[in-house]
Amino acid sequence: MRLPVCLALLHCGNAFRGTGNPPRTRAAVVRYLTRPQDFIAARPARAPARPVLTAREAAAATAEGTAQAPKNNNGKKKVLFLMSDTGGGHRASAKALVNALDRLYPGRVEAEVVDIWTEHGAWPYKNFVPWYALMAKRTFLWRMLWYYGRFWPTRKLQELATRFTCGNQFGKCIRAAKPDMVVSVHPLCQDIPLRQLAKIDGGSRTTPFVTVVTDLGSAHNTWFDRRSDYTFVPSDSLEQMAARCGMPASKVIKRGLPLREGFWDLTDSKIKGEMRTKLGLVDVPTALVVGGGDGVGGIAKVAIALGNSLGASKVPSGLVVVCGKNEAVKKELTEREWPAGVTPTILGFVDNMDEWMAAADCIVTKAGPGTIAEAATRGLPCLLSSHLPGQEFGNVKFVVEGGFGAFVKQPAKIGATLASWFGDLKLMERLSAKALEAARPSATLDIARDIGGLLFEGTAPQA
Ligand code: UDP
Repeated sequence: MRLPVCLALLHCGNAFRGTGNPPRTRAAVVRYLTRPQDFIAARPARAPARPVLTAREAAAATAEGTAQAPKNNNGKKKVLFLMSDTGGGHRASAKALVNALDRLYPGRVEAEVVDIWTEHGAWPYKNFVPWYALMAKRTFLWRMLWYYGRFWPTRKLQELATRFTCGNQFGKCIRAAKPDMVVSVHPLCQDIPLRQLAKIDGGSRTTPFVTVVTDLGSAHNTWFDRRSDYTFVPSDSLEQMAARCGMPASKVIKRGLPLREGFWDLTDSKIKGEMRTKLGLVDVPTALVVGGGDGVGGIAKVAIALGNSLGASKVPSGLVVVCGKNEAVKKELTEREWPAGVTPTILGFVDNMDEWMAAADCIVTKAGPGTIAEAATRGLPCLLSSHLPGQEFGNVKFVVEGGFGAFVKQPAKIGATLASWFGDLKLMERLSAKALEAARPSATLDIARDIGGLLFEGTAPQA
């Protein structure tokens, strides 16, 4: 225990010595400990220990690894996707990429998606999924964990502890999969897998490894690891964050967030009527309420307040609430009496979110990155009702500065805002046009093409 603490203190000390900056204030110390990436960017560039490869050189180097015969005897190239089911977004992104690879390279790719922390992590780390579900409901706990992970000494201690307790098991998992390439779609699937791959490859990694960031406007800095061959980011703000974390620009590729096939093209309002008929909805202004895969973000309170406001407005309207895996909320809302004029549709976890979004006029949601990116492709104005501290905060900026929505916390005000949006057709059209502008429907196929290029030809993704 003492050694990591000493190392942490030594690192902090070094970081504050000899940078030629004026004396450090306490605020600067706190800032360094919580946002070390700002200081990495501010430091004068040191000569790199190893030459930094250009994108083409990196691809050529990677090609050596991929040019070999596939490691699997069925002749297909094996791609191992690493993630953890913390929320619905990571698996959804992985599945989307698998689908896109299959579409672009039919019969040539064998994909495996592994929740490596749950299936191969040691106690207590194998419990990330239930912890996340709990913390997403109690955001003060999430805030503590976020800063615990951002604060350099605790982050390093955590890294050491997880390497020590989970490293070998992760190594076994990767070795057994015999991947021709590894794709991480989770912020905690860089450090240990990269180390283990290097071990498996005989000390220096030759198996290509890419990271696909599935956050949108802000993200945890563990996403950004210089050892990854390429890191795909969805937005300008995360491209800038990657640079602040010391990632070479040639390794950061901006494409958008991987989304499921139903979101690979834009929809316009013409199909709204058709979708409503298909889904059995009444053809009236309709709000969709979603709380991520786990049905969090206080969706019951939000839905009830929306129902009351829409009822009070006397304009016939529809309210679709997708409760995800939250059975308790589904039961509560199903058994409830709704005001006259409001037609409620209460659902559990749905697999056809693209259709429900296409049928709605606007979405009310926590600031989940997947949900926002999907809603943008449907041209849905977004009314954000909450965000997780840290990683979802930037998503609020993404929506508000993108001009396709608003952030309103109090349920009563959410209801009033939505009622006012429904009463102003021009505003709804403007918000919808801005949402379509922010959408990146081609992102999934673009990233899959880049992965395929690396895997089959060793060509570098073009920025
Ligand atoms: N989702 C879904 N069905 C549901 C609820 C959610 O397919 O019933 C999907 C949603 O479309 C999105 C993902 O789950 O793709 C949620 O991801 P997001 O990043 O918004 O939030 P998270 O759950 O990861 O916190």
